[in-house]
Amino acid sequence: MEELGRRDHNAGTEISIVAPMYNEEAVIGIFVQEIRRVFSIANVSYEIVCVNDGSTDNTYEVLKRYALEDERIKVVNLSRNFGKEIALTAGLDHCNGRAIVPIDCDLQDPPELILDMISKWREGFDVVLAKRIDRSSDSLMKRWTSSMFYKLIDSISDIHIPVNVGDFRLLDRKVLEALKKYGERSRFMKGLFLR
Ligand code: UDP
Ligand code: MG
Repeated sequence: MEELGRRDHNAGTEISIVAPMYNEEAVIGIFVQEIRRVFSIANVSYEIVCVNDGSTDNTYEVLKRYALEDERIKVVNLSRNFGKEIALTAGLDHCNGRAIVPIDCDLQDPPELILDMISKWREGFDVVLAKRIDRSSDSLMKRWTSSMFYKLIDSISDIHIPVNVGDFRLLDRKVLEALKKYGERSRFMKGLFLR
């Protein structure tokens, strides 16, 4: 595994966006643009940790180019395709933020929500989950912009199973460190939240 980006430079990073990427060369540009746009209206330091999960297209080359021109963009390069969960875990192991937001790079989860997550985090919540509320008629679903409503659920003290919750969430650093202690290298994001 290889890591690009100067770690010490990001020592004071508040938010880490962590995105696993498999054959996403066509999407990286719009993804980065969206994240930059969202953060441009927030007074918060951030990094984007992109994990190339053994892509067979030019994902890695494209990421390297972005990392060279923008020090907030870091690249973790996996030697082969390990699957999303392991790619995400690799990204979590290499991020520096005081809060961490894993996100898919296909923009199915609206990046705007990150700002709401951050304000909840600043209010003192350690985990902020984004919950999808599906429309009753799935056949009418269009793109995520129109097909998804959202609700933020603040959750840490009660143990209950969140429904329709994916990987899109904010974790405080101390929660991430606690999760790492479980030592599981796969599927912990969804599973361990239920324990
Ligand atoms: N992904 C990955 N490795 C894989 C498959 C997917 O890193 O082997 C990434 C992919 O690039 C995307 C995220 O994981 O950023 C979610 O993938 P996808 O949209 O295919 O999954 P779904 O939306 O069906 O959960
Ligand atoms: Mg997807």
